[in-house]
Amino acid sequence: QAKEAGRDKMKVFNRRMLDKAMHAMKLESDLRAGILNNELYLDYQPIYSLESKEVIGFEALLRWLHPERGLVMPSEFILMAEESGLIFELGNWVISEACREIKGWITKYENAADLAVSINISGRQFSQTSLVDNILSTLKQLDLPPKNLKIEITETAIMERAGQAVEMLSKLQSAGVLVSIDDFGTGYSSMSNLQEFPLDQLKIDITFIRRITKSPENIEIVKAIINLAHNLGLYVVAEGVETEQQETILRNMGCEFGQGYLFSKPMTVAEVEAFLKGNNSLY
Ligand code: C2E
Ligand code: MG
Ligand code: MG
Ligand code: MG
Repeated sequence: QAKEAGRDKMKVFNRRMLDKAMHAMKLESDLRAGILNNELYLDYQPIYSLESKEVIGFEALLRWLHPERGLVMPSEFILMAEESGLIFELGNWVISEACREIKGWITKYENAADLAVSINISGRQFSQTSLVDNILSTLKQLDLPPKNLKIEITETAIMERAGQAVEMLSKLQSAGVLVSIDDFGTGYSSMSNLQEFPLDQLKIDITFIRRITKSPENIEIVKAIINLAHNLGLYVVAEGVETEQQETILRNMGCEFGQGYLFSKPMTVAEVEAFLKGNNSLY
């Protein structure tokens, strides 16, 4: 009896592992097909000046409309794309798609001239040195001013490739592309390392913004991050601002920009265009 139960458990265990592996393999081949079948698209979340309440840019966020599963979020497939190497193809698609879109907005809408579109660059993508030439040649091809493009890269991705990171980032920065650290505070960089890297902006991770209204200590931590960034000559963006209380605290601490559901959820391209046709202001 006991032996049998043990065997059954083993069966279930193996079955589950097999299911998982099959699921992962299917997801990968689905993504491969999805790229070819245009199932991927970008949503754009506005980034606001906390002072003027004007939109200063958008973050491009990847979406996958799977034919059977419906909408699949990046948290469900970016890691797999990194592990399988599909991230290179995917990443290049994001670069050209986002650049093409912002170029169109600039051409159509006068108030879009100074907007920057941010794209997320994953760690593995950043290990490919051709990334820089890729970005720069896309800009050239589209005749898109570099200041209209911002790249977001996590501190972990930078630190893991510290050697080449300095060179890659300074090449981008000296061409006029804006460089932002993403999810700051979650990685393993020490604050003193930051100054080695050519950066324009620091984005504070959502977890710090969430905690900001919970205790005075948390406010102090965010204050320290903002001061550090300013001392290094960086602008600060707060990620995941959801309440007016958070917004007020951040503005009072001198945080320049905010992004989050309080202002706007990620928008479809149609929504962005409708917005730009209006007056590009929250109020
Ligand atoms: P991220 O770069 O930190 O992007 C911000 C995430 O926070 C987005 O999730 C956004 O929808 C979400 N968010 C914005 N405001 C709020 C808020 O007020 N509250 C809450 N709870 N969430 C908010 P999303 O779109 O699911 O993307 C998740 C992550 O996937 C991104 O985090 C980024 O690391 C990655 N990702 C997205 N698009 C791309 C891409 O094109 N390439 C790469 N390599 N990674 C991407
Ligand atoms: Mg980001
Ligand atoms: Mg982020
Ligand atoms: Mg984040």
